[in-house]
Amino acid sequence: MSDFTLEGGCQCGAIRYRLTAPPLMAYACHCSECRRTTASAFGVSCAVLQDTMEITRGTLKRIDWEVESGAHRYGEFCGACGSRIRNGDVPSRGVFSLRAGTLDDQQWAEPVAHTWLSSKVGWFSVPDDALTFDAQPTDYTPIIEAYQKRRGLA
Ligand SMILES: [Zn+2]
Ligand SMILES: [Zn+2]
Repeated sequence: MSDFTLEGGCQCGAIRYRLTAPPLMAYACHCSECRRTTASAFGVSCAVLQDTMEITRGTLKRIDWEVESGAHRYGEFCGACGSRIRNGDVPSRGVFSLRAGTLDDQQWAEPVAHTWLSSKVGWFSVPDDALTFDAQPTDYTPIIEAYQKRRGLA
C-alpha cells in the first residue's frame, strides 16, 4: 500500500491534500451538528489516520468547540472558500474525520453506515444494505469491516 495515493481539496482549489493510505471507513452522520457544518441534510465522512494525510497546498483555518458530552472537537477549513475539510478531537485520537465530499474520487466516499438516525430528516431513506445506528456507534469495527470489504481491501 506504500504507493497508494488519493487526493482531494476545497471548492476554490487553495487547499489540496493527499492520503497515502485508504480511509478506514466512510459513513453518513445525520446529527444536527453535521447538518450545520456541511450545510446539507447529513454529513458523509471518511475516518483517516492522521499520519496518512498531508496538506499539499495552502494552510487550513481552524475552529474549536465543545460538544454536549463536554468533549472538545475542532474543524479545519479553507479560509478562502470556507469548505470544511476535516474534524478532529482534542486531545487527538490519531484519526481525522475527513469530509468525504472533498475527495476527487467519490468511490471512496460511499458510506456503509448511517449514524444518528434519531435526528435524520424525514425525507431521506437509508439504503437497505447499510449498517444503522440511532446515535453514535460505540464500536466502529463492523463499519470498518464492511467498508474494507466494499472497497475490496479485505
Ligand atoms: Zn478553498
Ligand atoms: Zn454528526
